[in-house]
Amino acid sequence: MPLALHSRSIKAAALVGSGLASFARTRRSTEASILTFHGLSEDMKDRGILDWSLHLPVGVFRGICAMLAKEYHVISLADLVEARSRGTGLPDNSVVITFDDGYASNYELAFPVLKEFGLHATVFVTTGFLDKVEMFWFQRVDLALGRTQKELLEWRINGKKLRLYLGTYELRQQSLMQLLPELKELPDVDLLGEVNRLEEALEVSRPDFHDLPDAMRPMTWEMACEMSLSGHVDIGGHTHTHPILARCDVRAMRAEIATCRDRIHAEIGELPATFAYPNGGSDDYTRETLMLVREAGFKAACTTISGRVDDNVSMYQLPRYGSPESVWEAKATVSGAFETLKDWRQSCRKAMSMI
Ligand SMILES: [Zn+2]
Repeated sequence: MPLALHSRSIKAAALVGSGLASFARTRRSTEASILTFHGLSEDMKDRGILDWSLHLPVGVFRGICAMLAKEYHVISLADLVEARSRGTGLPDNSVVITFDDGYASNYELAFPVLKEFGLHATVFVTTGFLDKVEMFWFQRVDLALGRTQKELLEWRINGKKLRLYLGTYELRQQSLMQLLPELKELPDVDLLGEVNRLEEALEVSRPDFHDLPDAMRPMTWEMACEMSLSGHVDIGGHTHTHPILARCDVRAMRAEIATCRDRIHAEIGELPATFAYPNGGSDDYTRETLMLVREAGFKAACTTISGRVDDNVSMYQLPRYGSPESVWEAKATVSGAFETLKDWRQSCRKAMSMI
């Protein structure tokens, strides 16, 4: 478990235990929150994957759903978008559940839990991943670092020289965390070439879809259709090949968004209404991206910038919280306790400066 996440969970437990989360839940009841998940896993013992942060244990997800079903109103993203666009109210303490990328585990592990608790979710799919045209570049990097026989690689990227230690599973995990942010900085046209060179330097072959560890597999379109027909899941767009859109030129950006929309339309039989930007940080999309998503007919789009969904939120930059790693963290997050604590700290600092 990464240290930063672990300390966040401890802080969350303190916010819940001290009563601040239940105070925030009452004070901030008119603000909605949106949670982002990716895949789920049955256990994290498979050493064939280095980065487990995208695959939450299903037991934790089940605990989060049980808590949300009991204490919150889980609504669909479509209902949230409609209410916020019309200026009508939402149920108090509304929460939206979303999944990014389109992993098979959304169907195999999350869908039964959603049905059990009668909850709704939006699954943002990367259509080329479901079509098995292209696996995610970060999966290839994870597998290359995990499968190489090499114990050290010196790699030049973005004017830096990285020393990637690969002697143990833990060192490989650390090297992956060092390398991923650098790769995300590259222009999209250079990224896959860099991943090819990396595989070559690490002397591993490019993996096929049938080589993917279980947790990394894409869902099939049949799985997506069944979930969509159930009424528990909406299928949203997440591009065709998952580039960071800000690193694409306008033509490539338009094609990524339109192809994604058209593939969902063809397979599900409905135009997707919502979109999520890959990576989703403020540097990962541009003003042109927002315009193109709107032009393609999407009614709203989600970022991964943390925050509350209040009346002033932009429909094409909906904030979303990252995946909580525990029920405590989910409870503190959706209540607004982290923001309440931040507001208090700022007020205290202001008051102290006036003394
Ligand atoms: Zn994604």
